[in-house]
Amino acid sequence: MHATATETDFVLPSSRVAALTALVVCATHPERRTVLSPLSGRPLAQIPQSSPADVAGAVGTARSAARQWRELSPRRRAAIVLAFHDRLLAGRDEILDLIQLETGKTRADAFEEVAEVANVARYYARTASALLEPRRRRGVLPVVGYATQSRLPRGVVGVVTPWNYPFALSLGEAITALLAGNVVLLRPDPRTALCVLWGVQQLITAGLPAGVLQVVVGDGDPIGAAVVRCVDFISFTGSTRTGRAVAAVAAERMVGCSLELGGKNALYVRADAALPLAVDIARRSVFTAAGQLCTHTERLILHKDIAEEFLRLFLAAVAELRVGVALDYGYDMGSLFGPEQLQRVIGHVEDARRRGARVLTGGRHRPEIGPWVYEPTVLENVSAAMDLRDAETFGPVVSVYRVADDDAAVRLINDSDYGLHATIVSGDRTAARALAPLLRTGTVSINESFAASWGAVGATMGARGDSGTGYRHGPEGLLAYTVVQSVAEQRAGRLGVRGADGQRRFADWFSRALVAARRGGLH
Ligand code: NAD
Repeated sequence: MHATATETDFVLPSSRVAALTALVVCATHPERRTVLSPLSGRPLAQIPQSSPADVAGAVGTARSAARQWRELSPRRRAAIVLAFHDRLLAGRDEILDLIQLETGKTRADAFEEVAEVANVARYYARTASALLEPRRRRGVLPVVGYATQSRLPRGVVGVVTPWNYPFALSLGEAITALLAGNVVLLRPDPRTALCVLWGVQQLITAGLPAGVLQVVVGDGDPIGAAVVRCVDFISFTGSTRTGRAVAAVAAERMVGCSLELGGKNALYVRADAALPLAVDIARRSVFTAAGQLCTHTERLILHKDIAEEFLRLFLAAVAELRVGVALDYGYDMGSLFGPEQLQRVIGHVEDARRRGARVLTGGRHRPEIGPWVYEPTVLENVSAAMDLRDAETFGPVVSVYRVADDDAAVRLINDSDYGLHATIVSGDRTAARALAPLLRTGTVSINESFAASWGAVGATMGARGDSGTGYRHGPEGLLAYTVVQSVAEQRAGRLGVRGADGQRRFADWFSRALVAARRGGLH
């Protein structure tokens, strides 16, 4: 069932906008850009834009604040983040409104962003201290020497994020980098900056010192690019195309970068799957955030024995999806982000239709619901000649494929340049688990949607192929924001001698010592 647009006026009080945009690092009379709300297509706010000089100034401020933040104990840093955590959940209605107004997603999808930031904040606040603890390592020889391996912050971390999950991605990465002891320069997509600024405001109120986390706003080029050119480490989330450009600059500057890029994720329904469960998982995997989620499903791979029955149930479930725009719970799917995203989705579906794909349901723009709403769409007979087959659509569109067995499913899942996420639904979890290592993806979810992998914040989400090089969550998610420094200390004795006799005797003695150490299981 589709709902028509409500009469609600999707506006924000100008005083609220002014309080948030006051946090943007920008000159006294900055250029302002009008941002539209995807819920209505109408102006939402005027956002000040930073200049490249503002970016340079912000990096200078960050460097001045770095020492104070680095020297704060992990416990003190965690206390600030935990206070933020509670403020976030207490103020969730306000942030849910902002996320919805800026992205056009449903309230339930917006809540996923809030839950993600709360989970990340709590997880790293609880674990950062232990993860950053220096580790004692053996020296060249036992007893007389040892080494200590430390994890030090990288310095100024630049976090560049896209519009699709602006709050989760910006605040999640910023908090992780901060808890690793870094200072952060955050550059959200300029069309979704308000929700990010709200999060920064809450962190400051929770006790974050001035200059430790700053926000610059502006186009990818020049402002995102300026951030990439002057920070000590880059956390980039976005498309593979931009990710490659960011990686090239990082390589040139010899600084590290984490790249969280696109996907063309598959969901495989095995022959033994409970079909009502599989349908529910597929519904959420495909249509969450109207398909504008990096880990959502764009390819449905069905075992041929259950394909007909699955499709019958799935198409009935899709027909019942409530599509609409409102600042309240109740809808299952909201709007696309804007006209460019709508054109991309229409382009993929029309190209596929023209080349012989069959639209099983959907396939239409629904402006009477919202300006950029597109119907939940399912296609089959999709071939390699169509854009839809391999390119990321990033919309509420899924193509259906049938396979004869697990081997064929694995081949099809891996037949993609991307390698972000895959889902397996099966009545035999042991069999599903055995398939996981055969998949060239950073994350696999079994018998749940991406929400299972995403919500398991203690388990690192990686990426393969064109999906990037980044780590999110888990120990690696935090450690990526650190550099390793080892300090080796000699307690007694020396490791070198001079003269031919001395060197020979040293080589003999050292060789015997190594053999003894090997036999004793020491080194
Ligand atoms: P995009 O690559 O066009 O832009 C991403 C961000 O980079 C934007 O904020 C943009 O303004 C900025 N940017 C553009 N040029 C830049 C430059 N030269 N230097 C620095 N920054 C620059 O991507 P998009 O369309 O905004 O976002 C959607 C993409 O993000 C999809 O491909 C999606 O799969 C991906 N994504 C990946 C993850 C993940 O965790 N793997 C999460 C969310 C989104």
